[in-house]
Amino acid sequence: PVAPDYERLEQILKDAHQKFAADKSGSPADYIPELAKVDPELFGICVVTVDGKVFSVGDVNHTFSIQSISKVYTLAMIMDQMGQQAILDKLGAEPTGLPFNSVTAIEQQPTRVGNPLVNAGAIATTSLLDGESEKEKWEEILAFYSACAGNELTILNDVYESEAATNGRNQAIARLLQAYGVMYNDPEEAVDLYTKQCSVGANTEQLAAMGATLAADGTNPFTGENVISPDNVPHILSIMLSCGMYDYSGTWSYITGLPAKSGVGGGIVAIVPGKGAIAAFSPRVDAAGNSVRAQKAIAYISKQLQINIFDPQ
Ligand code: GLN
Repeated sequence: PVAPDYERLEQILKDAHQKFAADKSGSPADYIPELAKVDPELFGICVVTVDGKVFSVGDVNHTFSIQSISKVYTLAMIMDQMGQQAILDKLGAEPTGLPFNSVTAIEQQPTRVGNPLVNAGAIATTSLLDGESEKEKWEEILAFYSACAGNELTILNDVYESEAATNGRNQAIARLLQAYGVMYNDPEEAVDLYTKQCSVGANTEQLAAMGATLAADGTNPFTGENVISPDNVPHILSIMLSCGMYDYSGTWSYITGLPAKSGVGGGIVAIVPGKGAIAAFSPRVDAAGNSVRAQKAIAYISKQLQINIFDPQ
């Protein structure tokens, strides 16, 4: 369990919600037009433990698009398919220190893609998926994410259509990667699959469950299904720690000591290995693309619970 004292945990979650609900800084991402329509006041926090206990406060049943959080789970699929070394050989594991959709990073990084958690790296990761057709690959992605959540997830079509109509930058990134020889399939198909995976909907409880699957060595705490190879989990978490919060990853790691991943839809999930996951959602994001309230809430909770993974106690 994240904290043996469940009453205290509930109180800490309530305090976090109350403390940061008043924070109206940042604004919902609007470069994907559909995201700008979401109620900016929504705010939910949820902890799911490795033994399947759920602690929730706020709007935890509102479904939002997971956006970049999808990148972690497609990475998990590819690592299971191709092994750990292929991630280094074909993708890389270096933080870029630049925004998630940076083209400059592609020009500067020796592996071009940087790491699987920025757009370039995620599109390259998605292009590695095995499958006969795009449809088959898409079904495989959705089934895998659903198994991680222990719940059937679906695509939010309005978000998908909105992003598909405006994702010229990601298309350019895929073409540039192709020119550098690190796009492993048709770039248009890879971007389309990537856009679909970003548009998968989850609520805060489902997101926390997806995180808890990583905390529990790859086994979903509700279904008991082993979804991600336990050997791969520490490597996935390492990449999350160094790259999961974009160009804020170093500061995030300094503050919380927790591997985490954010999405511009306003969700963030942080993993406490062997214990559980904390997910939070609120649509207003900062300049890096991280939800303001979600990051503050998770940082507060992790401090109160003293769950920095580098803390030896
Ligand atoms: N779908 C978004 C994009 O490609 C994901 C970015 C994010 O969540 N940071 O721009």
